[in-house]
Amino acid sequence: MDSKWSIQDSLICYKQRIYLPTTSELIPAILSAYHDSTHEGLQKTLWHIRADFYWPAMKSSITTYVSDCHVCQRNKSDHLNPVGLLQPLTLPTQVWADISMDFVEGPPLSAGKSVLFVVVDRFSKYGHFIPMAHPYTAARVAQTFFEHIVRLHGIPESIVSDRDAIFTILSFLGSLWEGPPRLVSYTRGTIRVDAIDEAFMDRDQVLKMFTDLLQKAQDRMTTAYNKSHRGVSYAVGDYEWLCLWQYRQHSLAGPARHKLSPKYFGPFAIIRCVGPVAYQLKFPDTAKLHDVFHVSLLKPHKGPAPSSPPFLPPVDNGHVILTPYAVLQVRVTNDKWDILVQWPATDPEAMTWELLETFK
Ligand SMILES: [Zn+2]
Repeated sequence: MDSKWSIQDSLICYKQRIYLPTTSELIPAILSAYHDSTHEGLQKTLWHIRADFYWPAMKSSITTYVSDCHVCQRNKSDHLNPVGLLQPLTLPTQVWADISMDFVEGPPLSAGKSVLFVVVDRFSKYGHFIPMAHPYTAARVAQTFFEHIVRLHGIPESIVSDRDAIFTILSFLGSLWEGPPRLVSYTRGTIRVDAIDEAFMDRDQVLKMFTDLLQKAQDRMTTAYNKSHRGVSYAVGDYEWLCLWQYRQHSLAGPARHKLSPKYFGPFAIIRCVGPVAYQLKFPDTAKLHDVFHVSLLKPHKGPAPSSPPFLPPVDNGHVILTPYAVLQVRVTNDKWDILVQWPATDPEAMTWELLETFK
């Protein structure tokens, strides 16, 4: 018999470790006993189990067990480049045809006005900075927009803004209003006066040069951004963990409150691909959270699909409300006490390791 094998206390041993056949019912119990108490990473779990046991292809079964562990998936983020490649806007080719607008709040009060309504032509980068008073309503913004922008430049073909309500009202009013036709491009000889004919030809050349420069700038920006980001694509039916860090929970006092609570919730199934970098998730009917998310907030779920609907924390005004339900375990790492906190009573799997001192 190969000297690597021996029999000790009626147990078959391989290199002084207890041998188990791959079909042994003890393997799941061993995996659970070694990993579930500490939720250590793959290498440490592997090292501890290998010290005592041996079964064929044990590395692969331990790898699967650790990577499928829900507690680990909920707590740990990937140490990879963030996902989501840059989705550049279509390039404008005409002056004041495509604009962006925003509001700058906080400049010093001047003549009772403390907000700047900023409208920029995306082609020429020419901007208007219009002071407004708080609170500004959608109707008031629309009126200002027509007085300062449409009067001078006509109705734009596209508006980029993250202010939904105002954006919608401007788009609606724009559709009712027919502005003067925009001169798209000029054909030589259309005007008989030589000087004007020449001026229009020069204008078209300048526009062409601007377009090329804008394209170059956008290409450079896209290349630089995409170097540090990963392009991923998910399919309808895939399960994703959802990162809700941006909705910081407010039920605990103190500066460390945002560190508490699971990093990821779910996993939730994708029910629609909204665009190249946005997905709609299947939430419980009672959820009070918008269900479309940028791809950077999602992390693919590993392992079999969840059998019960996942827990989604209550959300109030965009803030996750979480209260610890129970403390399940205690451990010491780097001379600090950690506690394993179960968050909602309804989801025994939603637990995270937290520093004990953050609760004091
Ligand atoms: Zn784990």
